[in-house]
Amino acid sequence: MSTLERERALPDWTPGTVGDDVMTVHKIRDGEAVCGAVGNVDEWQRRVTCPACRAGE
Ligand SMILES: [Zn+2]
Repeated sequence: MSTLERERALPDWTPGTVGDDVMTVHKIRDGEAVCGAVGNVDEWQRRVTCPACRAGE
């Protein structure tokens, strides 16, 4: 599979929660929330609900 094909198949982030807020699911890239939220990251396979993270699409 070429690099281009893999980028199309897989996003470069995974869904996850940050810190104590387990209701908001962020996009996690390289261990950090895309929107800049800080805290303990837990990666989940859930729909992203953070408006700031979704706005970056
Ligand atoms: Zn976010």
